Amino acid sequence: KPMLSMKNISKAFNGITVLDSVDFSVKKGEVHALMGGNGAGKSTLMKILTGVYSADQGEIYIDDQLVEIKNTDDARKNYISMIFQEFSLIPTLTVAQNIFLTREDKTSFGLLNDKECVEKTRKLLQELEVDIDPNELVGNLGVGYWQMTEIAKALSQETKILVMDEPTASLTKKETKILFSFINQLKSKGYAIIYISHRMDEILEICDRITILRDGKHVATEDCKQIDLDMVIQYIVGSSMDKAFE
Ligand code: ADP
Ligand code: MG
Ligand code: MG
Repeated sequence: KPMLSMKNISKAFNGITVLDSVDFSVKKGEVHALMGGNGAGKSTLMKILTGVYSADQGEIYIDDQLVEIKNTDDARKNYISMIFQEFSLIPTLTVAQNIFLTREDKTSFGLLNDKECVEKTRKLLQELEVDIDPNELVGNLGVGYWQMTEIAKALSQETKILVMDEPTASLTKKETKILFSFINQLKSKGYAIIYISHRMDEILEICDRITILRDGKHVATEDCKQIDLDMVIQYIVGSSMDKAFE
């Protein structure tokens, strides 16, 4: 049973269809890859989920409840967080300041002083089993830990569904390994994770299922244990017969 289910999602910009009745679902404790060529509609689908865009058509269900996501606040209220490709952290502030002092909705915590901020962060990082000092300047962290701080910041707001857009893009192999063990932990804690990526090797390593979009259409959802690279390429570019009739 899916935790999140997007059904029949369509979206056009200036009369041009970029998503055409797309279905997408994720289970609790699942890492679900979203793949497709450039312009396939991945980011648009996730921007609809996170309330950046609204869909022209379709429904979103969370735990079988129909929800309306009209803006980013609605997404947050439905426990959806997204980590964008561009880092949002400020290098000259500490980890704790980045996570709790700079957030727009800090009013919901009351005004935190530095000490509370550090304690809250320490607790959060402990829960996530991430070994980072809350007082460390973000600028002193390696890119891998920077990325994990970014994720910790997203998870500092109550979250069930976490969207990551190419999280390993600027990481080394070693940093990627650390990130993957962190993602595995999040999985075991029951988060539903949507993992946008082009890296098939990484998808096969970390993801449970994969959904492939092509030209705004859903072309396949497969178990990652059942697929190989050739199948995926076929799905992404379409068959040579399709190409011949284009
Ligand atoms: P992907 O993330 O898979 O590369 P996108 O969702 O970013 O694809 O884009 C899908 C299509 O929608 C592309 O053709 C893109 O140019 C178009 N598109 C995305 N956002 C907008 C927008 N705000 N206005 C007009 N066209 C857009
Ligand atoms: Mg793109
Ligand atoms: Mg994109």
